[in-house]
Amino acid sequence: MARYTGSVCRMCRREGLKLFLKGDRCYSDKCAIGRRSYAPGQHGQGRKKQSEYGLQLREKQKAKRYYGVLESQFAKYYEMASKKHGVTGENLLQILESRLDNVAYRLGFALSRAEARQLVTHGHFTVNGRRVNIPSFLVKEGDVIAVCEKSKSSAKMKAVLENTATKVIPKWLELDRENAVAKVVTLAAREDIDLPIQETLIVELYSK
Ligand code: SF4
Repeated sequence: MARYTGSVCRMCRREGLKLFLKGDRCYSDKCAIGRRSYAPGQHGQGRKKQSEYGLQLREKQKAKRYYGVLESQFAKYYEMASKKHGVTGENLLQILESRLDNVAYRLGFALSRAEARQLVTHGHFTVNGRRVNIPSFLVKEGDVIAVCEKSKSSAKMKAVLENTATKVIPKWLELDRENAVAKVVTLAAREDIDLPIQETLIVELYSK
C-alpha cells in the first residue's frame, strides 16, 4: 500500500496552514507552522502571486493532504463523485469523509488521520462486527464502527480515548464513548465538513 513517507510538517508549510497531521504536536508550540510559516524550499519565502491553475492545484493538494490520499486514489474518488447524483465537489468531500481512517479520527479513536490509518491497518476496528483493516474502506449510512474488544484494554487506545474525551463529534456520527462504539447516522453533508477546502476549485481543475 503506497503512502507518503516524507516530512508531513513540510506539507502544512507548503499549504500555509495547519493540516493537523501529527496529533499532539500540532497543538503544541513545536508546530512548524508557528515557527516557520513560509513555504519550504529555496524559494519558499519569495513566492507571491499564484495563477488560476496554481490556486486550483493547491486546493487539490490540500484536500489530498488533509485526508492522506495519494494522487491515483484521489482521481478515483473524483471519478466516483462525478458519477453520483448531486454536486460533484460536495460528493467528493463526502466520499473522503466516509473513509474508515477519517471516521475513526472524527470519532476520537485516533489523534490524527495518520494515526487512524495505522490503527485501522493494525486491525483495531470493526465495522458491523467484522474486523476491517483497510483505511480506504468507505462506511455507509447505518454502519456500526467499534474499537475491537481486545484493543479497548490496550494502553495506547486507553490513552487516545482519554485524550479525545472532550472532542466534538460531527452530527452525522453518533458515539457511545463509554463503549467506544459509533454509528453512521447519515453520510456527511457539506456543512458538516469543517475543513477550509474550496471544492469548486478542485472540480475546475479536473474539468480542464
Ligand atoms: Fe502541520 Fe501538525 Fe506539523 Fe504543525 S505539527 S506543521 S499542524 S503536521
